[in-house]
Amino acid sequence: MTDLSLATKFVHAGERKSAPAGIPASTPIYASSSFIHERVEDIDSIIDGDTTGFVYSRYGNPTVAAFEDAMAALENGKFAYAFGSGMAALHAALLACDLSNGSVVLASKDLYGSTFELLLTVFGAFGVKTVTEDFNDVAALRVKAFELKPRVLLCETLSNPLLKVCDIEECALIAHEIGAKLIVDNTFATPYLSRPLDLGADFVVHSATKYLGGHADATGGVVIAKEEFDKPALLGALTLAGGVLSPWEAHSLLRGIKTLGLRMEKQCSNAERLAAQLQKLPQISEVIYPKLFDGEDAEALDRTFHGSEFGAIVTIRLAEDTREASYRFLNALNLCTRAASVGDLFTGIVHPATATHREVSPAKRKQLGITEGLIRISVGIEDVNDILTDIEQAVEKCGSPLIEIEQAVGVSA
Ligand SMILES: *Cc1c(COP(=O)(O)O)cnc(C)c1O
Repeated sequence: MTDLSLATKFVHAGERKSAPAGIPASTPIYASSSFIHERVEDIDSIIDGDTTGFVYSRYGNPTVAAFEDAMAALENGKFAYAFGSGMAALHAALLACDLSNGSVVLASKDLYGSTFELLLTVFGAFGVKTVTEDFNDVAALRVKAFELKPRVLLCETLSNPLLKVCDIEECALIAHEIGAKLIVDNTFATPYLSRPLDLGADFVVHSATKYLGGHADATGGVVIAKEEFDKPALLGALTLAGGVLSPWEAHSLLRGIKTLGLRMEKQCSNAERLAAQLQKLPQISEVIYPKLFDGEDAEALDRTFHGSEFGAIVTIRLAEDTREASYRFLNALNLCTRAASVGDLFTGIVHPATATHREVSPAKRKQLGITEGLIRISVGIEDVNDILTDIEQAVEKCGSPLIEIEQAVGVSA
């Protein structure tokens, strides 16, 4: 460096030291878009896949790879690829299923709103047809699958906001009988509750933005595959569509999943307690929580969830099933946040009809059971008594304003 000019030193000084002696206890953020090698032949061999290593961050980055390895291990997959968002991950998983003009995707009618939009607008524009079906009606699903011969079946382990549990094993059997692939969005259940690849799914997708990250500070997605032979297709979707995860986000997500088990344990037990208590309130007409299911729904739950925990989301329907009552309730909350996301370590409450299902027509919402008085609670890790106290005081304020006026008159009289 000594005989170089200042202009050159600005550019090169201090850089490109060899790896330190000692392995970092926590994977560093490799904020490098490219990686330099001694010999050009080494770069060649890495790009060919003959040796492992990194060349260019769209093709792979060490921080991102650490997150991918962790997710493959958690979901019992052969490999995983990370993406810039859950939507980018879904897009890539679908691209990896060899869809073309005229192919059919058989999708659960309870899918996340943007997933529908992705299928209808992005894939629809290229002639891919999407047909929806009730995935909880396995007999009807089988008939539809044999009739339409879809290339892909797409569902969610635990649906939003009605928390329907999909019988993944049955869906995988149907998909494979007709040579289709099964993609499962496991965002709401997380590998803590269910591992769809063990039940026969081909791809698991996550919005890592939710429970995996868990701290409302990172956006990302991931696809985990059951079979090695799907690697070239998924890698192609990743590197050509290019929706890669940044190393900064990968670092946050990798940190997030270290406490996923602890958070889920606490969030599930809080949710179970909350569901039991909320059933006692006269202002709430219905509490939806998987533990409360019976009949076929309970059997699907048994097969799909591997433990005796039921998730960290509780959905309620107000007795006064109107938008006005829902807004009064939401605006009266002091502790629980009016956050549009789920899976954060704080409790977040949304009004699905005007948030997650805003784009769905009122008639379709009604048909799905997403009424104006429906409220989704993503339960956090706070003390459950504080969450309950906040919801109780807010629910009292959402009673009919007419009754409140009468009471006020009564008091002053
Ligand atoms: C949020 C979400 C997505 C989309 O994830 P982004 O990270 O917001 O792109 C997909 N599926 C489900 C079930 C979700 O909740």
